Amino acid sequence: MKIDRIEVRFVEAELDRPFGWSQRWTNSRSVVVMKVFTDDGVIGWGETYGSQDTVAGIASIASMAIGEDPANISQIWHRIHRATYQGHGYAGLPAMAVSAIDTALHDIVGKNTGKPVAEVMGGRLHDSIAVYATGLYYVDNYSLEPHLKEAAGYVKQGFTGMKMKVGALSLKEDAERIRATRDVIGSDVRLMFDANESYDAATALTFADMVADQDITWFEEPCASRDFIANKLVQEKSPIPVSGGESLSTRWEFAPRLADRTFDIIQPDICGVGGPSEIHRVGLMAQAFGIKFNPHFWGTGISFAAALHALALQPIGQIGQTNIPYQNESVLEFDQTPHPVRENLTEPFFTHENSRVDVPTRPGLGIEIDESVLERFTIGDMAVVDTPSGSQVFF
Ligand SMILES: [Mg+2]
Repeated sequence: MKIDRIEVRFVEAELDRPFGWSQRWTNSRSVVVMKVFTDDGVIGWGETYGSQDTVAGIASIASMAIGEDPANISQIWHRIHRATYQGHGYAGLPAMAVSAIDTALHDIVGKNTGKPVAEVMGGRLHDSIAVYATGLYYVDNYSLEPHLKEAAGYVKQGFTGMKMKVGALSLKEDAERIRATRDVIGSDVRLMFDANESYDAATALTFADMVADQDITWFEEPCASRDFIANKLVQEKSPIPVSGGESLSTRWEFAPRLADRTFDIIQPDICGVGGPSEIHRVGLMAQAFGIKFNPHFWGTGISFAAALHALALQPIGQIGQTNIPYQNESVLEFDQTPHPVRENLTEPFFTHENSRVDVPTRPGLGIEIDESVLERFTIGDMAVVDTPSGSQVFF
Protein backbone atom coordinates (compact mmCIF):
# COMPACT_ATOMS: atom_id res chain seq x y z
CA MET A 1 0.00 0.00 0.00
CA LYS A 2 1.30 3.45 -0.91
CA ILE A 3 0.26 7.02 -0.06
CA ASP A 4 -0.69 8.63 -3.35
CA ARG A 5 -2.51 11.89 -2.58
CA ILE A 6 -2.90 14.37 0.27
CA GLU A 7 -5.50 17.11 0.52
CA VAL A 8 -5.25 19.92 3.05
CA ARG A 9 -7.96 22.50 3.65
CA PHE A 10 -8.71 25.38 5.98
CA VAL A 11 -12.13 25.10 7.57
CA GLU A 12 -13.74 27.93 9.48
CA ALA A 13 -17.18 28.76 10.85
CA GLU A 14 -18.63 31.93 12.30
CA LEU A 15 -19.91 32.03 15.87
CA ASP A 16 -23.25 33.50 16.90
CA ARG A 17 -21.70 34.89 20.06
CA PRO A 18 -18.04 35.95 20.30
CA PHE A 19 -15.93 34.97 23.30
CA GLY A 20 -12.63 36.20 24.65
CA TRP A 21 -9.55 35.34 26.68
CA SER A 22 -6.52 37.32 27.79
CA GLN A 23 -5.15 37.77 24.28
CA ARG A 24 -8.19 38.59 22.16
CA TRP A 25 -11.82 38.00 21.27
CA THR A 26 -12.94 35.69 18.48
CA ASN A 27 -16.08 35.34 16.40
CA SER A 28 -15.02 32.19 14.56
CA ARG A 29 -13.54 28.71 15.05
CA SER A 30 -11.22 27.10 12.56
CA VAL A 31 -9.13 24.02 11.89
CA VAL A 32 -6.88 22.62 9.17
CA VAL A 33 -8.03 19.17 8.02
CA MET A 34 -5.80 16.71 6.15
CA LYS A 35 -7.13 13.80 4.06
CA VAL A 36 -4.57 11.16 3.08
CA PHE A 37 -5.34 8.76 0.21
CA THR A 38 -3.72 5.41 -0.55
CA ASP A 39 -3.59 3.38 -3.74
CA ASP A 40 -5.69 0.71 -1.99
CA GLY A 41 -8.50 3.19 -1.40
CA VAL A 42 -8.03 3.40 2.37
CA ILE A 43 -8.33 6.99 3.58
CA GLY A 44 -6.93 8.55 6.74
CA TRP A 45 -7.84 11.81 8.47
CA GLY A 46 -5.60 14.20 10.32
CA GLU A 47 -5.91 17.67 11.77
CA THR A 48 -3.79 20.58 12.85
CA TYR A 49 -3.81 24.34 13.32
CA GLY A 50 -3.10 26.93 10.67
CA SER A 51 -4.77 29.36 8.34
CA GLN A 52 -5.88 29.75 4.76
CA ASP A 53 -2.37 30.96 3.96
CA THR A 54 -0.62 27.95 5.49
CA VAL A 55 -2.44 24.99 3.88
CA ALA A 56 -0.11 24.99 0.85
CA GLY A 57 2.96 24.88 3.11
CA ILE A 58 1.53 22.09 5.24
CA ALA A 59 0.62 20.06 2.14
CA SER A 60 4.04 20.64 0.64
CA ILE A 61 5.81 19.37 3.77
CA ALA A 62 3.43 16.39 4.06
CA SER A 63 4.18 15.51 0.44
CA MET A 64 7.40 13.89 1.68
CA ALA A 65 5.14 10.93 2.52
CA ILE A 66 3.88 10.46 -1.05
CA GLY A 67 4.91 7.06 -2.42
CA GLU A 68 5.63 5.69 1.06
CA ASP A 69 3.99 2.75 2.82
CA PRO A 70 1.65 4.33 5.43
CA ALA A 71 2.67 1.64 7.93
CA ASN A 72 6.13 3.24 8.12
CA ILE A 73 4.80 5.85 10.55
CA SER A 74 7.98 6.39 12.54
CA GLN A 75 10.16 6.49 9.44
CA ILE A 76 7.93 9.15 7.83
CA TRP A 77 7.76 11.16 11.08
CA HIS A 78 11.52 11.27 11.53
CA ARG A 79 12.19 11.90 7.86
CA ILE A 80 10.03 15.03 7.93
CA HIS A 81 11.57 16.11 11.22
CA ARG A 82 15.13 15.62 10.02
CA ALA A 83 14.59 17.35 6.69
CA THR A 84 12.91 20.39 8.19
CA TYR A 85 14.96 20.65 11.37
CA GLN A 86 18.33 20.92 9.73
CA GLY A 87 16.88 23.44 7.32
CA HIS A 88 15.86 25.58 10.31
CA GLY A 89 12.21 24.92 9.50
CA TYR A 90 11.21 23.40 12.82
CA ALA A 91 8.84 23.90 14.66
CA GLY A 92 6.02 25.93 13.05
CA LEU A 93 4.59 24.45 9.89
CA PRO A 94 6.60 21.21 9.91
CA ALA A 95 5.30 20.44 13.42
CA MET A 96 1.77 21.06 12.21
CA ALA A 97 2.25 18.97 9.06
CA VAL A 98 3.80 16.06 10.94
CA SER A 99 1.05 16.20 13.61
CA ALA A 100 -1.67 15.92 10.96
CA ILE A 101 -0.02 13.22 8.87
CA ASP A 102 0.95 11.14 11.91
CA THR A 103 -2.73 11.11 12.92
CA ALA A 104 -3.85 10.19 9.38
CA LEU A 105 -1.28 7.38 9.07
CA HIS A 106 -2.50 5.82 12.34
CA ASP A 107 -6.05 6.05 11.00
CA ILE A 108 -5.03 4.31 7.75
CA VAL A 109 -3.08 1.52 9.44
CA GLY A 110 -5.91 0.93 11.88
CA LYS A 111 -8.53 0.75 9.13
CA ASN A 112 -6.30 -1.52 7.05
CA THR A 113 -5.64 -3.95 9.90
CA GLY A 114 -9.08 -3.72 11.54
CA LYS A 115 -7.55 -2.35 14.73
CA PRO A 116 -8.34 0.81 16.70
CA VAL A 117 -5.45 3.31 16.80
CA ALA A 118 -4.75 2.51 20.48
CA GLU A 119 -4.05 -1.09 19.44
CA VAL A 120 -1.93 0.06 16.48
CA MET A 121 0.12 2.05 19.00
CA GLY A 122 0.69 -0.89 21.30
CA GLY A 123 -2.56 -1.61 23.12
CA ARG A 124 -4.73 0.32 25.54
CA LEU A 125 -4.23 0.52 29.28
CA HIS A 126 -7.57 2.32 29.76
CA ASP A 127 -11.02 1.96 28.14
CA SER A 128 -12.02 5.50 29.04
CA ILE A 129 -10.21 8.78 29.61
CA ALA A 130 -10.84 11.30 32.38
CA VAL A 131 -11.78 14.74 31.03
CA TYR A 132 -12.54 18.20 32.36
CA ALA A 133 -14.71 20.92 30.86
CA THR A 134 -12.99 23.80 29.15
CA GLY A 135 -15.16 26.84 28.72
CA LEU A 136 -15.79 29.84 30.94
CA TYR A 137 -14.29 32.29 28.46
CA TYR A 138 -15.17 35.94 28.76
CA VAL A 139 -18.56 36.60 27.15
CA ASP A 140 -21.04 39.45 26.85
CA ASN A 141 -18.58 42.23 27.63
CA TYR A 142 -17.04 40.39 30.62
CA SER A 143 -20.41 39.92 32.30
CA LEU A 144 -20.23 37.53 35.26
CA GLU A 145 -23.79 36.23 35.20
CA PRO A 146 -23.53 34.03 32.05
CA HIS A 147 -20.14 32.79 33.29
CA LEU A 148 -21.64 31.54 36.56
CA LYS A 149 -24.58 30.00 34.72
CA GLU A 150 -22.14 28.13 32.47
CA ALA A 151 -20.13 26.89 35.47
CA ALA A 152 -23.29 25.63 37.21
CA GLY A 153 -24.24 23.88 33.96
CA TYR A 154 -20.99 21.87 33.92
CA VAL A 155 -21.62 20.69 37.47
CA LYS A 156 -25.14 19.65 36.45
CA GLN A 157 -23.70 17.70 33.50
CA GLY A 158 -21.52 15.69 35.86
CA PHE A 159 -18.14 17.23 35.12
CA THR A 160 -15.76 16.79 38.03
CA GLY A 161 -13.51 19.64 36.90
CA MET A 162 -13.56 22.80 34.81
CA LYS A 163 -11.22 25.54 33.64
CA MET A 164 -11.85 29.27 33.35
CA LYS A 165 -10.01 32.19 31.80
CA VAL A 166 -8.21 35.00 33.60
CA GLY A 167 -5.84 37.73 32.51
CA ALA A 168 -8.04 40.16 30.58
CA LEU A 169 -9.24 42.06 33.64
CA SER A 170 -7.55 43.51 36.71
CA LEU A 171 -6.22 40.99 39.23
CA LYS A 172 -8.92 42.05 41.67
CA GLU A 173 -11.72 41.54 39.14
CA ASP A 174 -10.41 38.16 37.99
CA ALA A 175 -9.92 37.03 41.59
CA GLU A 176 -13.54 37.96 42.32
CA ARG A 177 -14.65 35.90 39.33
CA ILE A 178 -12.71 32.91 40.64
CA ARG A 179 -14.28 33.23 44.10
CA ALA A 180 -17.76 33.58 42.60
CA THR A 181 -17.15 30.50 40.43
CA ARG A 182 -15.96 28.47 43.42
CA ASP A 183 -19.09 29.50 45.34
CA VAL A 184 -21.32 28.32 42.50
CA ILE A 185 -19.62 24.96 41.82
CA GLY A 186 -19.03 23.99 45.46
CA SER A 187 -16.02 22.39 47.05
CA ASP A 188 -16.16 18.96 45.35
CA VAL A 189 -15.43 20.08 41.78
CA ARG A 190 -11.94 20.82 40.52
CA LEU A 191 -11.30 24.38 39.33
CA MET A 192 -8.40 25.49 37.15
CA PHE A 193 -7.65 28.86 35.56
CA ASP A 194 -5.69 29.85 32.47
CA ALA A 195 -3.93 33.19 31.92
CA ASN A 196 -2.85 32.31 28.35
CA GLU A 197 0.66 33.71 28.86
CA SER A 198 -0.51 37.18 29.86
CA TYR A 199 1.39 37.86 33.12
CA ASP A 200 4.98 38.59 34.02
CA ALA A 201 6.32 36.45 36.86
CA ALA A 202 5.75 39.00 39.66
CA THR A 203 2.14 39.64 38.60
CA ALA A 204 1.47 35.91 38.29
CA LEU A 205 2.77 35.32 41.81
CA THR A 206 0.69 38.18 43.22
CA PHE A 207 -2.39 36.72 41.57
CA ALA A 208 -1.65 33.18 42.74
CA ASP A 209 -1.41 34.45 46.33
CA MET A 210 -4.73 36.31 45.96
CA VAL A 211 -6.66 33.13 45.06
CA ALA A 212 -4.58 30.47 46.83
CA ASP A 213 -7.44 29.82 49.28
CA GLN A 214 -9.83 28.79 46.47
CA ASP A 215 -8.53 25.21 46.10
CA ILE A 216 -7.22 25.65 42.55
CA THR A 217 -5.89 22.51 40.84
CA TRP A 218 -3.59 24.38 38.46
CA PHE A 219 -2.59 27.82 37.17
CA GLU A 220 -2.17 27.48 33.40
CA GLU A 221 0.33 29.44 31.30
CA PRO A 222 1.01 32.24 33.78
CA CYS A 223 3.83 33.55 31.55
CA ALA A 224 4.96 33.13 27.95
CA SER A 225 5.51 29.42 27.35
CA ARG A 226 8.97 29.95 25.93
CA ASP A 227 10.07 32.16 28.82
CA PHE A 228 11.87 29.53 30.91
CA ILE A 229 13.00 31.92 33.58
CA ALA A 230 9.61 33.50 34.29
CA ASN A 231 7.75 30.19 34.38
CA LYS A 232 10.39 28.61 36.59
CA LEU A 233 10.18 31.51 39.02
CA VAL A 234 6.39 31.17 39.23
CA GLN A 235 6.60 27.38 39.55
CA GLU A 236 9.07 27.67 42.45
CA LYS A 237 7.09 30.21 44.44
CA SER A 238 3.44 29.76 43.49
CA PRO A 239 1.12 28.21 46.10
CA ILE A 240 -0.81 26.73 43.13
CA PRO A 241 0.70 24.10 40.77
CA VAL A 242 1.73 25.61 37.42
CA SER A 243 0.95 24.11 34.00
CA GLY A 244 2.04 24.91 30.46
CA GLY A 245 3.35 23.70 27.14
CA GLU A 246 0.32 23.68 24.84
CA SER A 247 2.29 25.49 22.13
CA LEU A 248 5.49 23.46 22.43
CA SER A 249 6.44 20.91 19.80
CA THR A 250 8.16 17.55 20.01
CA ARG A 251 10.03 15.76 22.80
CA TRP A 252 12.99 18.11 22.30
CA GLU A 253 11.03 21.19 23.39
CA PHE A 254 9.63 19.33 26.41
CA ALA A 255 12.91 17.72 27.50
CA PRO A 256 14.49 20.84 29.07
CA ARG A 257 11.20 21.81 30.76
CA LEU A 258 10.91 18.34 32.26
CA ALA A 259 14.53 18.27 33.38
CA ASP A 260 14.22 21.74 34.91
CA ARG A 261 10.71 21.12 36.31
CA THR A 262 9.53 24.37 34.69
CA PHE A 263 5.93 23.18 34.98
CA ASP A 264 4.24 20.90 37.52
CA ILE A 265 1.93 19.75 34.73
CA ILE A 266 2.71 19.63 31.00
CA GLN A 267 -0.02 20.06 28.42
CA PRO A 268 1.14 19.08 24.91
CA ASP A 269 -1.41 19.42 22.12
CA ILE A 270 -1.70 16.48 19.72
CA CYS A 271 -2.18 18.87 16.76
CA GLY A 272 1.11 20.67 17.38
CA VAL A 273 3.41 18.40 19.37
CA GLY A 274 3.72 15.88 16.53
CA GLY A 275 0.58 13.73 16.50
CA PRO A 276 -0.29 10.59 18.49
CA SER A 277 3.25 9.17 18.16
CA GLU A 278 4.90 12.17 19.72
CA ILE A 279 2.33 12.97 22.39
CA HIS A 280 2.75 9.38 23.56
CA ARG A 281 6.54 9.76 23.71
CA VAL A 282 6.24 13.04 25.63
CA GLY A 283 3.70 11.43 27.98
CA LEU A 284 6.13 8.64 28.83
CA MET A 285 8.90 11.18 29.41
CA ALA A 286 6.62 13.11 31.80
CA GLN A 287 5.83 9.92 33.70
CA ALA A 288 9.52 9.14 34.06
CA PHE A 289 10.19 12.65 35.41
CA GLY A 290 7.25 12.46 37.83
CA ILE A 291 5.52 15.40 36.16
CA LYS A 292 1.80 15.37 35.43
CA PHE A 293 0.64 15.00 31.82
CA ASN A 294 -2.76 16.60 31.10
CA PRO A 295 -2.93 17.27 27.34
CA HIS A 296 -4.37 20.38 25.76
CA PHE A 297 -7.18 20.07 23.21
CA TRP A 298 -8.78 22.68 20.95
CA GLY A 299 -9.82 20.84 17.77
CA THR A 300 -12.56 18.66 16.29
CA GLY A 301 -13.50 15.01 16.74
CA ILE A 302 -10.55 13.99 14.54
CA SER A 303 -7.88 15.11 16.97
CA PHE A 304 -10.05 14.36 20.00
CA ALA A 305 -10.32 10.73 18.87
CA ALA A 306 -6.55 10.65 18.30
CA ALA A 307 -5.95 12.07 21.77
CA LEU A 308 -8.25 9.49 23.38
CA HIS A 309 -6.32 6.68 21.67
CA ALA A 310 -2.92 8.11 22.64
CA LEU A 311 -4.00 8.68 26.25
CA ALA A 312 -5.29 5.11 26.43
CA LEU A 313 -1.59 4.15 26.43
CA GLN A 314 -0.56 6.54 29.20
CA PRO A 315 0.34 4.66 32.38
CA ILE A 316 -0.71 6.17 35.68
CA GLY A 317 1.83 8.67 37.00
CA GLN A 318 3.28 6.68 39.85
CA ILE A 319 3.29 3.02 40.65
CA GLY A 320 0.04 2.10 42.35
CA GLN A 321 -3.03 -0.04 42.07
CA THR A 322 -5.74 2.55 41.41
CA ASN A 323 -6.12 5.35 38.91
CA ILE A 324 -7.27 8.64 40.39
CA PRO A 325 -7.84 11.51 37.91
CA TYR A 326 -5.72 14.61 38.58
CA GLN A 327 -3.75 12.73 41.21
CA ASN A 328 -2.03 10.00 39.24
CA GLU A 329 -4.19 9.67 36.11
CA SER A 330 -4.02 12.10 33.18
CA VAL A 331 -7.02 14.29 32.45
CA LEU A 332 -7.74 15.47 28.91
CA GLU A 333 -9.11 18.90 28.10
CA PHE A 334 -12.67 18.61 26.71
CA ASP A 335 -13.60 21.80 24.89
CA GLN A 336 -17.21 22.79 25.54
CA THR A 337 -17.13 26.17 23.78
CA PRO A 338 -19.13 26.64 20.57
CA HIS A 339 -17.47 25.20 17.44
CA PRO A 340 -19.84 24.69 14.49
CA VAL A 341 -17.31 22.49 12.63
CA ARG A 342 -16.57 20.23 15.61
CA GLU A 343 -20.28 19.95 16.41
CA ASN A 344 -21.10 18.58 12.94
CA LEU A 345 -17.98 16.98 11.47
CA THR A 346 -17.62 13.57 13.10
CA GLU A 347 -19.72 10.61 14.10
CA PRO A 348 -19.67 9.92 16.96
CA PHE A 349 -19.93 13.34 18.48
CA PHE A 350 -17.99 12.68 21.67
CA THR A 351 -19.82 12.97 24.96
CA HIS A 352 -18.79 12.25 28.52
CA GLU A 353 -20.32 10.33 31.35
CA ASN A 354 -19.24 11.32 34.84
CA SER A 355 -16.32 13.24 33.35
CA ARG A 356 -14.99 10.26 31.35
CA VAL A 357 -15.04 9.61 27.58
CA ASP A 358 -14.80 6.10 26.12
CA VAL A 359 -11.81 5.34 23.90
CA PRO A 360 -13.19 4.40 20.43
CA THR A 361 -13.20 0.70 19.60
CA ARG A 362 -13.82 0.80 15.85
CA PRO A 363 -10.86 0.42 13.44
CA GLY A 364 -8.61 3.43 12.93
CA LEU A 365 -9.55 6.60 14.78
CA GLY A 366 -13.03 5.12 15.07
CA ILE A 367 -14.85 8.08 13.56
CA GLU A 368 -16.77 8.83 10.36
CA ILE A 369 -16.35 12.21 8.67
CA ASP A 370 -19.30 14.08 7.19
CA GLU A 371 -17.57 15.52 4.13
CA SER A 372 -20.52 17.80 3.37
CA VAL A 373 -19.56 19.69 6.55
CA LEU A 374 -16.03 20.13 5.20
CA GLU A 375 -17.44 21.40 1.90
CA ARG A 376 -19.74 23.82 3.70
CA PHE A 377 -17.05 25.38 5.88
CA THR A 378 -13.93 25.24 3.66
CA ILE A 379 -12.42 28.68 3.06
CA GLY A 380 -10.27 29.27 -0.01
CA ASP A 381 -8.63 26.63 -2.17
CA MET A 382 -7.79 23.16 -0.95
CA ALA A 383 -4.07 22.30 -1.29
CA VAL A 384 -3.55 19.00 -3.13
CA VAL A 385 -0.26 17.10 -3.53
CA ASP A 386 0.33 13.83 -5.36
CA THR A 387 4.10 13.95 -5.90
CA PRO A 388 6.85 14.60 -3.35
CA SER A 389 7.86 18.24 -3.36
CA GLY A 390 11.52 18.73 -4.30
CA SER A 391 11.55 21.95 -2.30
CA GLN A 392 11.49 19.94 0.91
CA VAL A 393 15.09 18.88 0.50
CA PHE A 394 16.55 21.59 2.72
CA PHE A 395 19.98 20.15 3.22
MG1 LIG B 1 -4.56 26.95 27.75
